[in-house]
Amino acid sequence: MSDKILVVASHNSGKVEELKALVAPTTKLLSLSELGFKEVISETGATLRENAQIKASFIYTKFEGRFPVLSDDTGLEVDSLNGAPGVFSARYSGNQCSDEDNIDKLLEELRYSNSRKAQFRTVFCLIEHGEEYYFEGIVIGEITTQKRGVKGFGYDPIFKPLGHHLTFGEMSIQMKNQISHRGLALKKLQAHLNQKLKLQFN
Ligand code: IMP
Repeated sequence: MSDKILVVASHNSGKVEELKALVAPTTKLLSLSELGFKEVISETGATLRENAQIKASFIYTKFEGRFPVLSDDTGLEVDSLNGAPGVFSARYSGNQCSDEDNIDKLLEELRYSNSRKAQFRTVFCLIEHGEEYYFEGIVIGEITTQKRGVKGFGYDPIFKPLGHHLTFGEMSIQMKNQISHRGLALKKLQAHLNQKLKLQFN
């Protein structure tokens, strides 16, 4: 039974699906499409944290603070590219680019590189009762030389987390969520919500 409602400030269906699996069954997560909201939110921040704040506060204000809102901004940070594509991960190969375009560009950039070390970093912003809270999750790994797997979304087919043989694109959503940047950020969010619940009843 769901006892809490959270609106997720994202149009990315892959992300929403992962978040829904992560928060069930205690929290009902409503996506923007379920609320009939189609407007694109401009991500003009210089950091993941700024973009997460922009998305969460935009939706929180739109719905006049009626629901708590959660946003997620994620970047893939490649060591040998000085942290790129980072905050520009979604637009790495241009403004209207697809996940495939981004993957192709990254594989090309790394073609002659002798380091393929990278990390996914997620920053969550939760706005509840007008207060903002931030939670971060990082997973270290490497960029493979070619795409492997058709699961997940975004850069998943070329990211292999440290200590694993499979790319995120080859893992089930449950397996990815156990070790991913998003799963780790979610654990911190859950600890925060549990703590607040404890304070409420003490
Ligand atoms: P945003 O956080 O929605 O702005 O996503 C930034 C970029 O990273 C987009 O290209 C996403 O597809 C990609 N991305 C976000 N999260 C993940 C993930 O968990 N795996 C693979 N790619 C991701």
